[in-house]
Amino acid sequence: MIDIGVNLSNPRFAKDIEETLDRAQQAGLEKLILTGTSIDESRAVVELCENHSQDFPKMLYATAGIHPHDASTLNRESIGMLRDIAAKPQVVAIGEMGLDFNRNFSTPAEQEKAFEAQLELAVECQLPVFLHERDAAERQLQILRHYRDHLVDAVTHCFTGSKQALFGYLDLNMHIGITGWVCDEKRGQELQQLVSNIPLERLMVETDAPYLLPKTMLEPPKGKRNEPAFLPWVIKGVADYRKESIEQITRATRNNALRFFRLDR
Ligand SMILES: [Zn+2]
Repeated sequence: MIDIGVNLSNPRFAKDIEETLDRAQQAGLEKLILTGTSIDESRAVVELCENHSQDFPKMLYATAGIHPHDASTLNRESIGMLRDIAAKPQVVAIGEMGLDFNRNFSTPAEQEKAFEAQLELAVECQLPVFLHERDAAERQLQILRHYRDHLVDAVTHCFTGSKQALFGYLDLNMHIGITGWVCDEKRGQELQQLVSNIPLERLMVETDAPYLLPKTMLEPPKGKRNEPAFLPWVIKGVADYRKESIEQITRATRNNALRFFRLDR
C-alpha cells in the first residue's frame, strides 16, 4: 500500500515518528509521500525523509509546495527556495497547491498568484503536481486547463467535491486521491456515490494524517489522531462503495502511485 498524503511534520507526530513509521510498515505500508505545505514544512518533510532513510529505506518521499492557506507568505524568494527544495532526490511532486475559497486564510488573489507560480515551477522541473481544492473547483479548473498540456501529471488530493468537479478533473486526465472522508457516513455521502466513477487507473489513496481519522474504525485511537497505518480503512471504504475487492483497490492504487510519482521499487 502507498499513502500519497501524510502530514508527518505536524506537531502531533513529533513525539513518536519512529513508532508511527513502524506501525505503518507493520500494517503493510510500503511507501509514504509526506506533504509539504509551506517553505518551512517542505524543508521539514524532506529532512524527515533524510533522517529516517536508514531505518526505512525507499519508504519516504516528499512534496514541496505552498498550501493555499499559506499563499499570503509568497514573496520574491519563495519560488527560488521551493526550486532548491524540489531538487532534492526525495521530492517527487510540487504541492500541495491550489485554491481554497472555503476559509480564505489567504485572499483569493494571493491564492491564485501562488498557485500559478507553482504550476510554472512544476512545468519547469517536470514534476507532477499535488493539488488541493475546496469550494473553488470552477476557478481551479480554469487555471489548470491553461497549464495541463505542459504538466507531466496532476492529482487532486483529498477529493470531496461535486460530480461536476470530478468530471472536470477527469476530463483533464488527472488522478484523484481519496481519504477517509469516504468513510464518513454523514459528510461523505456525495463522495460515496461518486467514487465508482473514477477510472481504476486514476485512483490513489491517502490518510491525510493526522487529519480525517476514518470514522469506520472499530477501535479508534484515543486522541483521534489519524496515521498511515490506518490506510487499510480508506481502502476498505473505497472498495465497498466501488463494489470491488480490497485486493483490487490495493494493487491498482499502489501501481498508480509508483507510476505517478516515479518511485523506486
Ligand atoms: Zn489539502
